[in-house]
Amino acid sequence: MLFRYIFPNFGVPKEIKNSMAITTISKKSKLKQQQITTVKDSTNPFEAMIQRFDVAAKIIGLEHDVYEVLKNPSKLIEVSLPIKMDDGSIKVFEGYRVIHSTALGPSKGGIRYSPAVDADEVKALAAWMTWKCAIADIPYGGAKGGINCDPRTMSVGELERMTRAYTAAMSDVFGVDKDIPAPDMNTGPREMAWIVDEFSKLKGGFTPGIVTGKPLHLGGSLGRVEATGRGVCTSALEAMSKLKMKADKCKAAVQGFGNVGSISAKHFEAAGIKVVGISDHTAAYYNAKGIDIEKAIAYRDSNKGVLKGFKGGELITNEELLELKVDILAPCATENQITAANANKIHAKLIVEGANGPCTAGADEILHNNGVILIPDILANGGGVTVSYFEWVQNRTGYYYSEEEINKRADRWMKQAFQNVWNVSTKYKISMRIAAYVFALEKVATATRSRGAY
Ligand code: NAD
Repeated sequence: MLFRYIFPNFGVPKEIKNSMAITTISKKSKLKQQQITTVKDSTNPFEAMIQRFDVAAKIIGLEHDVYEVLKNPSKLIEVSLPIKMDDGSIKVFEGYRVIHSTALGPSKGGIRYSPAVDADEVKALAAWMTWKCAIADIPYGGAKGGINCDPRTMSVGELERMTRAYTAAMSDVFGVDKDIPAPDMNTGPREMAWIVDEFSKLKGGFTPGIVTGKPLHLGGSLGRVEATGRGVCTSALEAMSKLKMKADKCKAAVQGFGNVGSISAKHFEAAGIKVVGISDHTAAYYNAKGIDIEKAIAYRDSNKGVLKGFKGGELITNEELLELKVDILAPCATENQITAANANKIHAKLIVEGANGPCTAGADEILHNNGVILIPDILANGGGVTVSYFEWVQNRTGYYYSEEEINKRADRWMKQAFQNVWNVSTKYKISMRIAAYVFALEKVATATRSRGAY
């Protein structure tokens, strides 16, 4: 076993320990040959974040005061957005923006449209942004936004009115030096363009630096669309080189075929890794000979953005996709896909978290005990926010880099971030997950401490 697992409740202050239910384990369990989890397998994303945060806080001996500051988001804004729907009715949508920390700089984080959005999800995603920016070594704090809605059932007009209403409601929260949104699930350059326009109208003047992930013609950065998936692949290749896994001998499965999943798959394929499984929320496909990713992307783009009906592989279930006999598994869809319930069925040796929060703390423990190396979300998908930072710098200076320059810098930063976390994991003999939290927490805690409090 490469790393010793640190139990999430080991040595944690008593009041925290008491709040963490420990799963009862039957000694006579049929799972004798299988790993079982000793931690609460919470699917609440904020609880899942705190479980890892507590372990890292204990390892670095974080003092109670700073622990309390960083455990809680610094700001949570909740708004009701009354929107006129196409049929003339008014529908009220709940919108959120959470600013977790601004210790290292203005807060940064995407905006998500999904029926699963709630305060706890956005709080977790905001905290993950704080840790991610610290690991990526960019001068930002962490934030996240979201609207509880089902964008797949809404027209473009409804989405535009909702995005503009959200921007107006958050116009005193957002700011080039305060809080800078970006795309996340079900949002992209189109929504970012609406935000730039609405914010610029409300505040006067053209303010492209208010968001990143914009279209190129509005001050977007070359390389931004591909940045997250490219970084997922770079971090996988870094891990493979440490683990002596050869790309041309490896097979991969990718869950989620949106921005992160499809671009990760494309870069895996370009690196010589055979991508044998892909999926989205409509279907999953397997092809032992390797899926032609370019064809799959073209099919999705001509098929209302979904994979259903793709002919380049045999239809399987999303559960089967996660359990394929592959070397690399990249969950790039959403939270809680690998839990204590299916972690024992994972065959991959290397998991690269393109999505935020795809594995629970219970899954972490089982995977670790099974010898699986996991590159955590706050490291693996940091390529996106890194290029977002480059976009913001370009907007501020008015000087624009070539795609080659952007990619070169982003690759270098991603490799450095991977090495930093790897060093912490070998120093403390802890998993890459906990090492990533330790690295980030040390940095954010130092800034928080030196900035002081009232
Ligand atoms: P997206 O909306 O472009 O794509 C999401 C994909 O996941 C779609 O293909 C969708 O069909 C699929 N999906 C959703 N639920 C699924 C399920 N239960 N099973 C299988 N597939 C499912 O979103 P995205 O931007 O690619 O983001 C995906 C994840 O990556 C999210 O967790 C997001 O927070 C994270 N992330 C995104 C970026 C970015 O730059 N876009 C950066 C960092 C992290």
